[in-house]
Amino acid sequence: MPLVKECVFCKIIRGEIPCCKVYEDDLILAFLDIAPFNIGHTVIIPKDHQNSITTLDEIYANRIIKIAPKIGVALMRTINAEGFNLFLNNGSVAGQTVWHCHMHVLPRFAGDKVVISSEPMKYDSMEQMSELAEKLFNKLNVQ
Ligand code: 5GP
Ligand code: ZN
Repeated sequence: MPLVKECVFCKIIRGEIPCCKVYEDDLILAFLDIAPFNIGHTVIIPKDHQNSITTLDEIYANRIIKIAPKIGVALMRTINAEGFNLFLNNGSVAGQTVWHCHMHVLPRFAGDKVVISSEPMKYDSMEQMSELAEKLFNKLNVQ
């Protein structure tokens, strides 16, 4: 899809909004998040307006997943992060606020204030769990 006039990330690609670039190639661009959860928090975007991972062209998806861990390692070497989270918010219920698909690379430090956790739930029964898995398996493993 061509770049979109009002999309903030398309504006960054077009150079209409500045960004602190950390990586760029023919397909993707990565830059520091303006409201980071930790110093070094980076977002990686396709250089094409694609609003969801569910429809993201494989060529961009492959490149993003190839570069994301390299950015994580660079953050570890550069600012002594001890690890990193890779995450992608898809849909407003999942926290997506910019409708141009992007992956977050979040460097982690011992004792940092980032919270990515939830109280674990329990399935009502093993049967409920295996029925759900079977439904998903049948949808995903179409011959
Ligand atoms: P989302 O919540 O959609 O997964 O993530 C969007 C991210 O983009 C947010 O973390 C937000 O801080 C970041 N962001 C939004 N606008 C800008 C901008 O103009 N510049 C930069 N560098 N980051 C932005
Ligand atoms: Zn866009």
